[in-house]
Amino acid sequence: MSNSPKRIVVVGASLAGARAVHSVRAAGHDGPLTLIGAEPHLPYDRPPLSKEFLTGEGDPSSLALDQDGAYDDLDVKVMLSTHAVGLDVAARTVAVAPAAGGNAETVPFDGLVIATGAAARSLPGTEGIRGVHTLRTLDDAQAIRDGLRAGARVAVVGGGFIGSEVAASAKARGCEVTVIEAASAPLVRGLGAQMGTRVGALHGHNGVELRLGVGVEGVLGAERSEAVAMADGSRVPADLVVIGIGVVPNTAWLEGSGLQIDNGVVCDDTLCCGPEGIYAVGDVARAPNGWLGPLAEAGPVRVEHWTAAVEHGMAVGRNLVAPAEAQPYSSVPFVWSDQYDARIQIAGHPDADDDVEVLVGSAEGGSNSDRSFLAGYRRNGHLSAVMALDAIRPFVRFRRLLANHPTWDEALELAATLN
Ligand code: FAD
Ligand code: NAP
Repeated sequence: MSNSPKRIVVVGASLAGARAVHSVRAAGHDGPLTLIGAEPHLPYDRPPLSKEFLTGEGDPSSLALDQDGAYDDLDVKVMLSTHAVGLDVAARTVAVAPAAGGNAETVPFDGLVIATGAAARSLPGTEGIRGVHTLRTLDDAQAIRDGLRAGARVAVVGGGFIGSEVAASAKARGCEVTVIEAASAPLVRGLGAQMGTRVGALHGHNGVELRLGVGVEGVLGAERSEAVAMADGSRVPADLVVIGIGVVPNTAWLEGSGLQIDNGVVCDDTLCCGPEGIYAVGDVARAPNGWLGPLAEAGPVRVEHWTAAVEHGMAVGRNLVAPAEAQPYSSVPFVWSDQYDARIQIAGHPDADDDVEVLVGSAEGGSNSDRSFLAGYRRNGHLSAVMALDAIRPFVRFRRLLANHPTWDEALELAATLN
């Protein structure tokens, strides 16, 4: 499609979809623009759901991504509580149905942005047990917050980002918390074993028990959660269980559409999914990131982080409205996580096989004070990623340096100026 599409539809009313809507208008599209979302809420921010929303008493309205009236001002038709249930690429229509049930209708489009994100995985057999939660939506967070009473016994299954942050928030509310992780350390997927162990030590320092290297059989309790049953026969008593064992991309509605679905919607480097005028963004998209090229990454990757969702949303508006000038997506990946009173920041692409070395500060400090450090990940003589714990200024410098794929020696040179 060499021309700008007339009617644009964005499916998924969250971070990436909201940014796409703004970007489409900023790129000069003045035709019909529709935003379709399954949830009853206007787009809101998810990161606080495991952090300050759980620890505080904040009102859900504080999470809104846009000011009141923003979608009216942008002349966007917003369809909330509406599920996309099918895509007909040839007819260029999306089939939608009310979330509450009812008849499907079709919404025609010339340009389409798929922004349906991901859904939390659950533990089979735990459905219907009260007190067992996953955390993806505002409604999930409200239900969890209601159960985080002082003295409540909380078991967190999965020591990834959700598990680590929820554990910290539950502890802050005075709960007795146990984190259960099947791997040898928390956050292994994001940080590798060495830094996962270092960051995971925050749990112990803050009075949270960490059970590592043991799987979970299920949750015991007929109506209410009573305990988590472990694969080694032991039990972790729990009034409340939060399961944080990863996500699955929301692609069921695209089955049979002809789009390539393989752990997300597969896209080219402009985020186009093949058919002209159809793009995917955010957690649901599996797209190349030009920055990863020199690190010998194979093909498109699916990223589950806030900054990528924003950048995708911004990029796709421009690419959709002016396809002849479409730009490939290229960015240094960035993630942050707040746990207890610590800020963890990651830039680049850490890999489990990378060598890891502390470049700034010392990783020996165990307590909450004097523990700030920055570690570098080395691959093929280059710096592939950095991870900082409470080292915001050095992190900013290294994040900038990563843009140009520095050698390891260049990383050491920068570190020497910061130590
Ligand atoms: P989502 O936010 O998943 O939104 C997709 C939307 O599409 C949802 O509203 C969904 O209901 C809707 N939808 C799905 N299917 C359909 C359908 N068929 N029809 C219509 N609508 C549909 N990242 C960080 O980098 N740092 C953090 O600190 C951080 N903290 C997080 C904390 C929590 C609790 C969670 C859950 C995530 C966190 N993330 C964080 C990840 C970040 O929030 C996600 O990467 C981001 O939300 C992805 O945005 P998205 O718009 O692609 O997808
Ligand atoms: P995640 O980061 O992928 O971590 C899931 C963890 O659960 C992994 O450690 C995984 O181990 C473990 N696990 C998987 N199956 C298990 C099982 N049956 N029993 C016990 N442990 C199991 O996913 P998440 O923490 O659930 O987070 C969900 C999404 O929210 C992700 O997209 C995440 O990026 C996002 N999020 C991000 C942030 C942030 O960036 N700060 C904060 C919160 C949420 P293996 O790796 O060995 O499978």
